[in-house]
Amino acid sequence: MGLLSNKVERNEIKPGDHIYTYRAVFTYSHHGIFVGGSKVVHFRPERNLDSSIESSSELYDPISPQSACPIFPDCGFRQPNSGVVLSCLDCFLRNGSLYCFEYGVTPSVFLAKVRGGTCTTAVSDPPGTVIHRAMYLLQNGFGNYDIFQNNCEDFALYCKTGLLIMEKLGVGRSGQASSVIGAPLAALLSSPLKLLMPSPVGVATVTAGMYCMSRYATDIGVRSDVIKVAVEDLAVNLGWAAPNDEAAQENEASDRQLMTL
Ligand SMILES: [Zn+2]
Repeated sequence: MGLLSNKVERNEIKPGDHIYTYRAVFTYSHHGIFVGGSKVVHFRPERNLDSSIESSSELYDPISPQSACPIFPDCGFRQPNSGVVLSCLDCFLRNGSLYCFEYGVTPSVFLAKVRGGTCTTAVSDPPGTVIHRAMYLLQNGFGNYDIFQNNCEDFALYCKTGLLIMEKLGVGRSGQASSVIGAPLAALLSSPLKLLMPSPVGVATVTAGMYCMSRYATDIGVRSDVIKVAVEDLAVNLGWAAPNDEAAQENEASDRQLMTL
């Protein structure tokens, strides 16, 4: 993997890796955890939760109606009311290139990366732990989207590190979320092509430096307000209600449906 790209081949990724791909010609990235067997666990807000979310942008990776998977019958599996989805690698990538998110990079490498959301200074847990978190959340959900401000990158970062930032409506953990805060800067820097556009060189340099420093400050590897949370304790730590009997029955019902497929 080079400094400017984390692009990898399919045979290079291992179970427990945090992978991502770019959608819509590099405008945003979609992240997931490769769990082996050509399967990826990833997070997206459930459909029909909020029609404004669904229609606002492709950022939320809506499921297209005609995307039924021809290869794996369980592709697209998710629990009712959960945004955590199991997909095959092909459906996850949608012909996009495959990239591997880097963990445990040095601060200098982190700052040298042109794009946010491709690496972190935080260290990954062992693959078995990562896969356990991903599969657990597939079965139990990843919480309320509004409260948690989750996105797919937050989900993958949590699965890899177990780290959560304990603030309710803050910046969020991911580079993608912090890019929203610095939208003009992110827009300037989000595309290598745009860097080639004529612009005052001094201004570009200064804003690039500011952007990198703010990105570094929001990296979960260097934040002081992160805590390690076991996946089984997620609900308790975040004040989510315990799953009630009705939900449990729904889950059982969906398990039965799945088995009849
Ligand atoms: Zn598929």
